Amino acid sequence: MSGTNQRIDPKRLWDSLMSMAEIGATPKGGVKRLTLTEVDKAGRQRFSAWCEALGLTVRVDAIGNMFARREGRDPSRKPVLLGSHLDSQPSGGKFDGALGVIAGLEVMRTLHDLNIQTEAPIELVNWTDEEGSRFGHSLMGSGAWAGIYSLEKVYGLKDVEGVSVSDALDSIGYKGSHPAAPFPADAYFELHIEQGPILEREGKQIGVVTGAQAQVWYDATVIGQDSHAGTTPPSARRDALVAAARIIERVDTLMRERGEDGRGTVGQLHVLPNSRNVVPGEVRFSVEFRHPDDAQIEGLAATFPAEAKALVEATGCSLQLEELFRIPAQPFDPSCVDLVRQGAARLGYSTREIVSGAGHDAVYVARHVPTAMIFTPCKDGLSHNEAESILPEEAAAGCQVLFEAVVARANRAL
Ligand SMILES: [Zn+2]
Repeated sequence: MSGTNQRIDPKRLWDSLMSMAEIGATPKGGVKRLTLTEVDKAGRQRFSAWCEALGLTVRVDAIGNMFARREGRDPSRKPVLLGSHLDSQPSGGKFDGALGVIAGLEVMRTLHDLNIQTEAPIELVNWTDEEGSRFGHSLMGSGAWAGIYSLEKVYGLKDVEGVSVSDALDSIGYKGSHPAAPFPADAYFELHIEQGPILEREGKQIGVVTGAQAQVWYDATVIGQDSHAGTTPPSARRDALVAAARIIERVDTLMRERGEDGRGTVGQLHVLPNSRNVVPGEVRFSVEFRHPDDAQIEGLAATFPAEAKALVEATGCSLQLEELFRIPAQPFDPSCVDLVRQGAARLGYSTREIVSGAGHDAVYVARHVPTAMIFTPCKDGLSHNEAESILPEEAAAGCQVLFEAVVARANRAL
């Protein structure tokens, strides 16, 4: 068992976070480091240089995922993985993703400084395109690695300027020679900011993440009829926006019926023709539901489409509803979760068990590798926002728990 007297360096961790945040820094204090751009390339290069300075071997796979390896004492052991992502939203914050990668680097630096040789090798990962904001597909690198998306399909995805993922990888020189496919690994640990308000609200330092929620996503189109706002009486109206509004109201109700664990959102709405004196003839919008319990999502997926159709048809309009995907809840590995729990307890941090509300690379990695996540609070629960902010001591606590869990796993008795 690793001693708890081994400490990461909080100042070095913070300085490196701030150094990474310079790459793609925005005037409002955030970060714009879109995946597979020149800015992303600069972030990757700084990360590589830091890893190589520690003697780590960096390899890149066919989707640009980076793995920085530190050998263990026993070459027959599978590596323990840790990491997150360095790409950001267009108006993202300094810590979403970067915290997990830079804290992983600090774990490696601490092992290096203290001259600790773990039994198993350790590999620090930077997953490509977690955010999905450039090519419209989140968790792209970890999803391709986990075999959830075919490489061929992912290579063909294009950004708004028509640049494909394949060309973007080539242009920054990060289409690596290693296959984007799962390899045997002993565990994966990811530290991430919570991106929600729960830890802050309850004054907890560490979230012990037990899994991720089930989700179902839809694209909806309501078809009514464009008509003159001044001349069309109620009996002749087929107002697509009114029909959509009834669905939006229903999504919110279905969420609230499920208490504090419920999630239901319409986040996107396109009204056509979007003219103030035309009754809207068509509305396209998104719908999504999330819940920690698979049964709740399966129940919604079974009943919501028919219910929505009935609401729309009562207004004289029609509904096309396409289910985009349904992801089951992903429980994390109990033994890995326990290492997080024990690490935090030994260090005396206040903790809370939590289910991840957001998608993370860890969710796809968990399909192949025993996985756990660590959450730390973020100010006002704000993320995907340039104002995203955390305190240096919060980053340090998360990093120290990451260190404890990774080292304990890498030295466990087999
Ligand atoms: Zn993230």
